[in-house]
Amino acid sequence: LAKKSNQEHFVYYKQEMEDKTLWRLGMIRQLRTDFAENRLELWYQPQLNLNSGKVIGAEALLRWRTADGQFISPAVFIPLAEYSGLIIEIGDWVIKQACKQIKSLEKQSFNDVSISVNVSIPQFKRENFVSSIIDAIKHYQVNPSKLELEITENILMDEPQIVIDALNQVKAEGISIALDDFGTGYSSLSYLQKLPLDRLKVDRSFVIDIAKPGQSIIADTIINLGKQMDLKVIAEGIEDKDQEAHLKSQACDEVQGFFYAKPMPADEFLAFLKNNS
Ligand code: C2E
Ligand code: MG
Ligand code: MG
Ligand code: MG
Repeated sequence: LAKKSNQEHFVYYKQEMEDKTLWRLGMIRQLRTDFAENRLELWYQPQLNLNSGKVIGAEALLRWRTADGQFISPAVFIPLAEYSGLIIEIGDWVIKQACKQIKSLEKQSFNDVSISVNVSIPQFKRENFVSSIIDAIKHYQVNPSKLELEITENILMDEPQIVIDALNQVKAEGISIALDDFGTGYSSLSYLQKLPLDRLKVDRSFVIDIAKPGQSIIADTIINLGKQMDLKVIAEGIEDKDQEAHLKSQACDEVQGFFYAKPMPADEFLAFLKNNS
C-alpha cells in the first residue's frame, strides 16, 4: 500500500514539474514576442535627497504589459528572462532607453537628475557588455555620470573577477555603481571593499519596521557602514512619515519609496519633476 501511494506522489510531482516547465516555456515565448512588439516599458521611480526634498534621480524599472493589457511583475519575468538569456537583449534595450531618457531630461534642463538601471548577472558575463554601454552613452551623447548601474551582491557568486574587472571599466568611464538589496544575499562582507561602489541601497526589508522600537538596528548599521566607506546611502521602500523621520535621525542621504512616488511612465516622471523643483 505504502509503495502504491509513493508511486502516486511521484506521478503527482512529475505532473506538477511538467506543468511548471510548460508554463515557463510559454511565458518565455510570450515575453520574446511581446519584447519584439514593443510591449516592454521602462518606468521611473523618483529618488530624493532626504534633506532638501529635491529629486536627484530615478530608478528605471521594467514593466511588461501583455496584449490584453495585463501587467506581469518583473519579479516573475526577470528570472525567466535571465534563465532564457533574453535578459541580454532586454538589458541592452533598458540601457539605451535610460540614456535616451537622460538626454531628454538634459534637454528640459534637468541637469542634476540621474537614472539608475538594474543589471543582471548574464549581462556581465557577455564579452562586449562594457562596450555596449559606452556605445549607448556615445550614441545619445549623455554625461556618463548621470547613469548608474545597480548590481546585487549575488553578482559575485561565480567568476567574481570577470565581474569586478567589468565594473572597474564601467567606473573608469565615469558611470556610477550602486549595490542594490544590500544584506539580503548570501555573500560575506569581504566583497564590499573589492567593488568600486558609489552608493549603497538599504533594502526595503530593513526599512519596513524601522519606526518600531528595537527594529531599526540593521538599517542603522547599514547607513553607518555606508558612511564609513564614503558611500552615498539610499533607503528604499519608504511608505510613511515615521520611517522617514527615523531615516532623518540617522542622517540617511537619499530615499525612494511609495511615500514619495510610485514608479511611473517617462512622461509622468517629467511632469513630476516639473512639479517638484
Ligand atoms: P529592485 O531593483 O530592488 O527594485 C525596487 C522594487 O521595489 C521595485 O519593484 C519597486 O516598484 C518596489 N518599491 C519601491 N518602493 C516601494 C515601496 O515603498 N513599497 C513597496 N512595497 N515596494 C516598493 P518592481 O518594479 O516590481 O521590480 C522588482 C525587481 O525586478 C527589482 O527590484 C529588480 O530586481 C527587478 N527589475 C526591475 N526592472 C529591471 C530591469 O530593467 N533589469 C533587471 N535586471 N531587473 C529589473
Ligand atoms: Mg534596483
Ligand atoms: Mg532593491
Ligand atoms: Mg529588490
